[in-house]
Amino acid sequence: MSITRRTLLLGAGTGAVAVLLAACTPEPQPKPTRTTPVPRPTAPPAVPAPAAWARSTWSTDPYSFGSISYLPAGADPQQRATLAEPIGDRLYFAGEALDPDHPGTVLGAVDSGRSAALALIVAAGEKERVAVVGAGAAGVVAARMLADANHDVTIFEARDRSGGRILSKSGDDWPIPAQLGAWLISDEQLTALHDRITTLGEKQIVLDTATGWSKDGAVDTVAGQSIAQAIDKAKSLPSDLPLDKALTQNGADPDDPALAAALAWQTAITGADPAKASSWYPPAFPADTLTGMGEDLGGFFDKHLKDQEITLASPVVRIAYDDSGVSLRLGTGEALSFDRVVVTVPLGVLQQQGIEFAPALPFSHRGAIAALASGFVETVWMRFDKLFWDAEQAIWHVVGGAGLIRTWLNLMPVTGEPVLVGIVGGPEAEQFAALSDRDARAAARAALEFFAPTPQGGS
Ligand SMILES: Cc1cc2nc3c(=O)[nH]c(=O)nc-3n(C[C@H](O)[C@H](O)[C@H](O)COP(=O)(O)OP(=O)(O)OC[C@H]3O[C@@H](n4cnc5c(N)ncnc54)[C@H](O)[C@@H]3O)c2cc1C
Repeated sequence: MSITRRTLLLGAGTGAVAVLLAACTPEPQPKPTRTTPVPRPTAPPAVPAPAAWARSTWSTDPYSFGSISYLPAGADPQQRATLAEPIGDRLYFAGEALDPDHPGTVLGAVDSGRSAALALIVAAGEKERVAVVGAGAAGVVAARMLADANHDVTIFEARDRSGGRILSKSGDDWPIPAQLGAWLISDEQLTALHDRITTLGEKQIVLDTATGWSKDGAVDTVAGQSIAQAIDKAKSLPSDLPLDKALTQNGADPDDPALAAALAWQTAITGADPAKASSWYPPAFPADTLTGMGEDLGGFFDKHLKDQEITLASPVVRIAYDDSGVSLRLGTGEALSFDRVVVTVPLGVLQQQGIEFAPALPFSHRGAIAALASGFVETVWMRFDKLFWDAEQAIWHVVGGAGLIRTWLNLMPVTGEPVLVGIVGGPEAEQFAALSDRDARAAARAALEFFAPTPQGGS
């Protein structure tokens, strides 16, 4: 793999926001305002500080602006396919948001990368110069296929690493690499990847027991029946209601802590905000058993990038295209010409206009970008010096309370070490991503209060 490092130009045309301070008329004379202090999360003393800690911030990351795509109420799955249509046989799009069958997953990203590469190979002549924008799963798979078809491929990646929304942190701190992006994959999806002659890795861990936990101790694990019933009824309504409205219309109580915990679980795995998600094309309710990859997933990318030309830390800020080819401008100001380009940047980046297209994309593509939703999921890994909880189950759901993170994975049973993984989705994930590291630690510890030996706020 040949890697060129370039200077990362932060904000150089990549959706940088200019903040303009407007002059105000001094009438009436403003009184000095007392700023209401924002309450900082405080960690309960019974939950110890972690010995090791890692967290994601995909929601605020300018190269993802979100975690997982989903269909909001009113959107149509066909809009994913629309976005995947090549423009003038020069501009191809790929990425998890475009895959009709497994959107929001690594498998979907791989399949969309394959589809874009195949379509390009059919349209192209021999040994063309092809650019691939983005070195996530879709980008590296597309690049591999294009290089294997004897094209001259260059990959441009904004970050100083490949992998995109797959990010493993290995090292002595963790019994298995801390996974800050995708790592949970069903057996069916693992087999599907295998059928495509690829694999994310060999080692898996299985998390197959679950419990709910309230301030009074263990309660039943969460279930999705009331959500499934509401969705069933909503399907016969004349218009597509957001999931939360479909639930209230069906008589569910939004203040019911068990329902809130079930929705938090669904949102943590799918990123779909219940206040926006379609009830006609709803997010799937998670399975009772989770299988997670237990190794560094960087190997997947190294394999696909072997002998490929990849330029890291090089955000593409503008793509001009016409009948004869494409021209890419990088954040450094450098411009390069290619015959064709595959753009695999996340939906969130397209929505925030992280890349300028010239001419502007067709209405059909802009309509699809605006119609789809980019959901938020954040994760936090914490290793403790010693066990402080008394729960053997692998999946925990916090029922009630005010904690920000309501889904926890207990890795003690599978790794033999006191490691907890918190997963939060939707608006709470955005909130969590916006916290400073110190406040995020406090918020994560506060969310664990029901599991501490002396439950805080217990009756
Ligand atoms: C917290 C989290 C948990 C998840 N959990 C799971 C899971 O358990 N199972 C599952 O199957 N899926 C999961 N997903 C979804 C999965 O990660 C994605 O579907 C998949 O990795 C997306 O791959 P991609 O290639 O489409 O996009 P990405 O991986 O985002 O790749 C796009 C690349 O484009 C780059 N880029 C962005 N802007 C520019 C630019 N201007 N110029 C150049 N490059 C640019 C980015 O840096 C990135 O490397 C999760 C996602 C998150 C965030």
